[in-house]
Amino acid sequence: MAKKMTVDQELCVGCGVCAGLCPDVFEMQDDGKAKVVSKNDCDHNEAINNCPVGAIETENI
Ligand code: SF4
Repeated sequence: MAKKMTVDQELCVGCGVCAGLCPDVFEMQDDGKAKVVSKNDCDHNEAINNCPVGAIETENI
């Protein structure tokens, strides 16, 4: 099942782990927070599981 990912901008602390793991999917913005920039199905569970604040949310689409 396809999933749509988003980064909760309130929770993200800008650690960069998600962008490090999946640079095609997550991009760090000028404000230091991560943003989802692609629907690519990079192994995003790894990013979700490694986000220290649980800011990456998924929604089944
Ligand atoms: S891993 Fe989580 S806290 Fe770190 S930049 Fe990504 S979304 Fe933000």
